[in-house]
Amino acid sequence: MLDVSVIRKDFPILDRQVHGKPLVYFDNAATSQTPKQVVSAISDYYFGYNSNIHRGVHRLSQEATDAYEQARIKMQHHFNAAHAHEIILTSGTTHSINLVAHGFGALLKKGDEIIVSALEHHSNIVPWQMLCERTGAQLKVIPMMENGSLDLEAYGQLLNENTQLVFCNHVSNALGTVNPIEKIIDMAHGVNAVVLIDGAQAAPHIQADVQALDVDFYTVSAHKMCGPTGVGLLYGKESWLRKLPPYQGGGEMIAEVSFEKTTYADLPHKFEAGTPNIAGGIAFGAALDYMHTIGFKAIAEYEQELLDYATEQLSAIDGLRIYGTQHPKTAVISFNLEGVHPYDVGTILDQLGIAVRTGHHCAQPIMDFYQIPGTVRASFSFYNTKAEIDALVDGVKRAKMMLQ
Ligand code: PMP
Repeated sequence: MLDVSVIRKDFPILDRQVHGKPLVYFDNAATSQTPKQVVSAISDYYFGYNSNIHRGVHRLSQEATDAYEQARIKMQHHFNAAHAHEIILTSGTTHSINLVAHGFGALLKKGDEIIVSALEHHSNIVPWQMLCERTGAQLKVIPMMENGSLDLEAYGQLLNENTQLVFCNHVSNALGTVNPIEKIIDMAHGVNAVVLIDGAQAAPHIQADVQALDVDFYTVSAHKMCGPTGVGLLYGKESWLRKLPPYQGGGEMIAEVSFEKTTYADLPHKFEAGTPNIAGGIAFGAALDYMHTIGFKAIAEYEQELLDYATEQLSAIDGLRIYGTQHPKTAVISFNLEGVHPYDVGTILDQLGIAVRTGHHCAQPIMDFYQIPGTVRASFSFYNTKAEIDALVDGVKRAKMMLQ
């Protein structure tokens, strides 16, 4: 059982007011709030041992290197990677995906096929389109269905011996629906295709086990799971990370450099050119520690309770439609009021101190499927309360009265 009133003390921002009303923060799928423990990890670094890593013999550099590499080990354990060097620290999911897409530029040829799902965030569409332009490979799309699930039968028909890569998110950011990635991975491996799962939206709610999933690549952004912005990770199976060429050239990623020839450093450094976000990486480790002290099981149970409560209350509002009704779902509700633009609902909610996201959520193909300009998305976290959901429901009723 979570003690939310105790947990909320770790998040001073939750005490602030917006437009004279208590803040109700329901934009967690865009970025989560940051607890004191994670901010302390950042200030401890800058005030106590700020130094560049991996290259200094002096004490501060060693302390910083240890803390950074300890954080990598926390990430390895959390996602159950076989080796710490299979965890590449990046600036986030977008960077992680581009790193893989860039690498496959050297491995694909004309006639190869790449499959993405219709539920993708733009960051899991555009890099593959760019890869297709560079290589002459062809992009195919797993269609979605009315309830927000993927059409696995159609997926089965898209797979063939030309399929080289399959990309899918673990959880849709626009709808919150959880995709059957175990099945998607198995089916792809049936034709020897490589699979990248975008775990940006799953990681705050579900502890993925990359070995049990047998996934080739998995991506995460720290800022969606109580960590800071500008840091994330790419998990890659060692065999694939060895095959991919480096993404960026620079310091840290080399073994030896001469003007005739450069040899690259071993994993993970081959993919970590330049000075990284050191404080961010350490704080990402602190965010994982923080979430584990609360417990992923307890978090998932409590968030489901919030989801069920909010779904019941919002569904009772006449003319309100929820998109993505498939289960399982994480604690996200994407909805519209009939005949009302989502932006107008979001603006009224903001006046009441309630932060939701409105628009296409960087997933325009989903909006095109439903033939809508966007949705209002309320996304919950373990520090939210039922009283806050009551405030949202009252706010939506008020918006309906004013706008419909
Ligand atoms: N994929 C999904 C499913 C997301 O929700 C997001 C963030 N909205 C991203 C990728 C991109 O993450 P970032 O901006 O942290 O790189």
